[in-house]
Amino acid sequence: VFKAILLQENEGKVSAELAELEDSQLPEGDVTVAVDYSTLNYKDGMVLNGVGRLVRNYPHVPGVDFAGRVEDSSHPDYKAGDAVVLTGWRVGEMHWGGYAEKARVKGDWLVPLPEGLSGKRAMAIGTAGFTAMLAVMALEEHGLDPAKGEVLVTGAAGGVGSVAIAILSKLGYPVAASTGRAETHDYLKGLGATSLIDRAEIAEPSGRPLDRERWQACIDSVGGSTLSCVLPQIAYGGSVAAVGLAGGSKLDTTVLPFLLRGVHLLGIDSVMCPLERRKAAWARLVKDLPMDRLDGMINEAKLADLLTLGSDILKGQVRGRVVVDIKG
Ligand code: NAP
Repeated sequence: VFKAILLQENEGKVSAELAELEDSQLPEGDVTVAVDYSTLNYKDGMVLNGVGRLVRNYPHVPGVDFAGRVEDSSHPDYKAGDAVVLTGWRVGEMHWGGYAEKARVKGDWLVPLPEGLSGKRAMAIGTAGFTAMLAVMALEEHGLDPAKGEVLVTGAAGGVGSVAIAILSKLGYPVAASTGRAETHDYLKGLGATSLIDRAEIAEPSGRPLDRERWQACIDSVGGSTLSCVLPQIAYGGSVAAVGLAGGSKLDTTVLPFLLRGVHLLGIDSVMCPLERRKAAWARLVKDLPMDRLDGMINEAKLADLLTLGSDILKGQVRGRVVVDIKG
């Protein structure tokens, strides 16, 4: 038997419990992993609370990400004892995930734990940090330049935001961090933010198709009216990496920033991201994310804590990154 968070659905209401499961209950897959660490992403909060219909079949084991060691494998790339990481591929949504002492998945979804990274730090990064790296890479491919002014990070004190700030700062960019939580200002400066703005300042569009060119680029976790507000503020030739929807999914804008300023709106997807790009992003994280700053983002948790943490993250109350010590 192994321990897991198990979700059940009853008359449309999802409930979570800490359960004991048998190995025979594990889903199909060619690699079985003994999970050491997992984490909490915004999407995990949605799944734990039955928001957004991400899960179609119950009972379900959530957990979008995990790090652990291969216990058993019939996949050519993995053998027992290998240290591995998994993020995305709809694990924790369509497929049972990492909130369990054991997971069984397709080996094609795994990435070898990058050299120089512990399983714990890999989960401090998790989908949120991995996505922040993908966003930085996309901005770089569209002309990001440390000499061209500030990069705005929205939802700054959240997981994606925190990791994005630490990476951008290490790479020499001035970073404007937008947060709704003034109490996180010292934390954000510690990660490398060079200026702080109140979330309310960019919460609503001005109504004008173009505003003062304020940012060379933006990594946006908030979406909705915040993204509508930011697009007309992007400098000529700049880019916005659209990552999230913590503030809403509806985008109300005009095409003028694209037509008159050559602004790029770059969609970032971490879930189906191809393997080669995944490996490139993990290698960049090892190189460009300062580990002392990553350690400063960590909130430690145990499996049972997830029963309450899921609603905290949906309320925007989690700062930085949660690391779940599965056997702790
Ligand atoms: P998170 O830790 O909860 O961070 C989200 C942050 O957004 C919060 O900490 C808060 O920052 C801000 N926020 C929350 N509610 C808000 C609201 N109503 N209005 C304005 N700002 C609000 O979540 P995360 O794991 O970093 O994920 C961030 C977003 O990215 C989520 O929407 C998630 O679904 C998405 N995401 C997408 C991908 C992808 O592949 N595209 C991957 C990972 C995550 P402050 O308190 O600092 O204001």
